[in-house]
Amino acid sequence: MKLIICLLAGLLACAIPVSGDITVRISVKAVLNPATGARQPGVADANFENCVSEMNDMLQSFGRGYRFQWVGGALQNVGGLNQFNSGPSRYYDVDFVNDEDGDLLKDQFEANAIANPATYGWDASAVNIYIVRFGGANWNVCSFPGHQIILVNGVRGYTNSSTVLHEIGHYFNLSHTFNGRQNLNSNGTSCTNGCSCAQLIGGGNDAVPDTILDHDCWDSQNDIAVGNYGLAYASLNAGQTANVDNMWWNLMSYHGRQHVTDRFTPDQMDRWTDCANDDRGPVRNGRTRFVATTGNDLIGNGGSILRYKTLAKGTSVVNSSADVVLLRGGNYNEPMTISKALTLRATRGSATIGKP
Ligand SMILES: [Zn+2]
Repeated sequence: MKLIICLLAGLLACAIPVSGDITVRISVKAVLNPATGARQPGVADANFENCVSEMNDMLQSFGRGYRFQWVGGALQNVGGLNQFNSGPSRYYDVDFVNDEDGDLLKDQFEANAIANPATYGWDASAVNIYIVRFGGANWNVCSFPGHQIILVNGVRGYTNSSTVLHEIGHYFNLSHTFNGRQNLNSNGTSCTNGCSCAQLIGGGNDAVPDTILDHDCWDSQNDIAVGNYGLAYASLNAGQTANVDNMWWNLMSYHGRQHVTDRFTPDQMDRWTDCANDDRGPVRNGRTRFVATTGNDLIGNGGSILRYKTLAKGTSVVNSSADVVLLRGGNYNEPMTISKALTLRATRGSATIGKP
């Protein structure tokens, strides 16, 4: 992946590299224990600072120019003593996943926060993340487009950069890599006993083209290989091996149970970017304009599916210096002058500009 970062002002020459990143603002709240009025033990700014830094390292490795900005650089305390039935602290100890009314309470939490931004520390221009505590349970709660609030449970949740980036991945419309998977017995009937079925088939599909099937019961590269190709991992060709590895280390998988995950695929980043462009405008600056030599300037809209064809078109629609023109690898034979500030990035191979 070749990275081109230029701030161009009338010159077709790279000046001093500037940050050239699309900023995504995140606002993080520590919900206080209504019994003590304090944060839960271990919740500290320094721990989340480390988490932000690790998430930004991962984002940088994807080469798409996204970067988190932690609003205020500090966890914001919300709620307080004796708020058992009102205010943010009433949600401190809710089991949002297993309680019958967990979904309802999550929606209520979100609605209350939006309606009472001062009390809840709600920031309409940021991804709002609340650190709650439900003793011992290992869950975190996301929001897909249409909803907004993210809940991370306990110290284990908010200090784990892979977990927080996973939840933010949902926020940008990424499904689990095993979405829709089934557990079946060898006779094809449904297995209701977790991962102990005689046969685990029906790996799920997340509707992202470059991710293969995955299953939260598959707990090795070999399982993923057999589930997709009917072959042992050691027998795969290079392309198949890469596909399996992309699941094994994928942030939207549950393979974080086996090891640290740190990866989105290029198509996952396309889906993230379309969502950032269209659904999540308030939390970011700048947008991405997709350009590919196979695109079309007439019917293209600059999204990841209907890409523009020319650099000229991609740059003409830029209306913010924070915008990124994302070129797919290829030759853009366009001698041209760019006279506004923007960032050019190349993805899926090198892009050549201005050569016959
Ligand atoms: Zn998830």
